[in-house]
Parts: sequence; C-alpha cells; structure tokens
Amino acid sequence: MKVAAVTELRERLERETSLGASVGDGWWPYIEAAATLLDAAYPGWKSGQIKEKFGGLRFYITPAPYTREPERGTDEDKARWEREWYEQQEAIATAAERACQSKCEICGDAATTEGGSTGWIHTLCPVHQAQYEEEKTMGRMLHNA
Ligand SMILES: [Zn+2]
Repeated sequence: MKVAAVTELRERLERETSLGASVGDGWWPYIEAAATLLDAAYPGWKSGQIKEKFGGLRFYITPAPYTREPERGTDEDKARWEREWYEQQEAIATAAERACQSKCEICGDAATTEGGSTGWIHTLCPVHQAQYEEEKTMGRMLHNA
C-alpha cells in the first residue's frame, strides 16, 4: 500500500480547521489541489471541517472576504459580483468533493460507494473493500494506512 506523505499544505489545513480533519490519505491530493487553487485566486480563505459523511468527502470552507472595489457597474452588478466571488470559492471545494466520490478514501484508486455489511457507507477500491469486509473496522484501516 502506498502511503501519502503528509505535506506542509495538509498540515496547515489540519491546523486551520478548528472542527478537525479526519479523512483517509486517498482523498488528500484532491483537497490539496482545491486548496492550492483557492490560495492562488482567493487568498484569505480558511479551511473548515474536512470529514467523511455517507461515503463522501465534505470539505467546508470559510471563503475569503470580498475585497474588490470596482469603479464601474450598477449596485446590482456589484451584488452579483460579490455573490459570484463566494460561489466560485464554494465551487472549488465542491469539485474536490465530487472528485472523491469515485476515489478510494484509503489509497485514491478507482472506487465505488457502498454500504458494507455493517451498514456504514464508505467509498473504497476493491482491495480495501475486501479488507474492510474482513476487518469490519474502518478506523483501524485508516490508521494503518
Ligand atoms: Zn483503496
């Protein structure tokens, strides 16, 4: 099993989120890709909770404040631009969530989302699905990854 190195970016996100970050290594490259895009275009954004729910990634963010002061445009335009500013940041986090829908939380390989015999819905590749069925404890798998 390949073990993803914990990067500086990941450490920063884990520090930044007061609510905690608890997902497997397989999803971190997608979270980091989104964070890199957000850093480049929206400095000042902050990571919120990063977790698994119903087999999917949940990547919550606090968007960077809107700071542009355009000279032209109606009040309606300015309101729309501000709304779009926030929506674009949310869309980047959502893109990471979507990418992880088909990726193994443990290793990042192609995966499907299933409820195992324990009823806990999770997204795993065939190898980790088999391991999960054998061990029945996701916690142990995540911590040994
Ligand atoms: Zn896997």
